[in-house]
Amino acid sequence: MKKFLTLLFTIAVAALATYIYISVLKDDKAFDNSLVVKTENNTTEQGGQKAEQAAQNEGQVSQTGFAVASDPNARPENITEATIINGIMLANKKYPVPATFAPGEDPTALAAVNQLITDAQAQALDISSNLSAFRSYEDQETLYNNYVAQFGQEQADTFAARPGYSEHQLGLAFDLLDNAGVLLGSEGSSETNQQAAKWLEENAHKYGFIVRYKAGFEEKTGYQAEAWHIRYVGPEVASEIYSKNITLEEYLNVEGGTYNN
Ligand SMILES: [Zn+2]
Repeated sequence: MKKFLTLLFTIAVAALATYIYISVLKDDKAFDNSLVVKTENNTTEQGGQKAEQAAQNEGQVSQTGFAVASDPNARPENITEATIINGIMLANKKYPVPATFAPGEDPTALAAVNQLITDAQAQALDISSNLSAFRSYEDQETLYNNYVAQFGQEQADTFAARPGYSEHQLGLAFDLLDNAGVLLGSEGSSETNQQAAKWLEENAHKYGFIVRYKAGFEEKTGYQAEAWHIRYVGPEVASEIYSKNITLEEYLNVEGGTYNN
């Protein structure tokens, strides 16, 4: 009887060991598969390997893919591609855009903002059909230099992008104005303007836009709050970012904040 129990115990232990071994092996395979899929999903130009390396280094894995470390040597003048992660083109103070990149307004984004404005106007909201849209590197250079001359570089950097770092150069961002030509939600603006800004904050995602620079997220985005600046990412992503109340940087698991240099 004792021998029988010993045998039974040995079989049980062996079975458990086999089960654990298979489970771990399975998990390993699952992990490997997800690694392949996520790496393929990461469409960053020349970024796949870098992304994988960054993830291994920091163990940061976002739901949308691996973290992509910014290149401290990247300048608008020496890069040839904008960074694209999971189909979303990125421009912030860590991720410049090539100086020569000049796509004009993205047609999908432009159609979406026009629909947004039409719907807002149908509700008698104080939103103008005039908007500030695509800006070339040269346009941004002029704008930025004017601000620097007026406010000094340190101050200008908190609210205006240096040339080659603006989302407006992507053709995916728009600044919305009220009918008096005042930026929506800007300081000292009228009550109707503020109402329109509030509507924009609550409804932009339905049209595929995020209010890109929100109050409380300055450290992450690198910019003062801009209630008027909306960025197209498509309705699905916009709704997720809106409901989670996060930044695009957090959604993509990328660096934001201030310039590398
Ligand atoms: Zn803007």
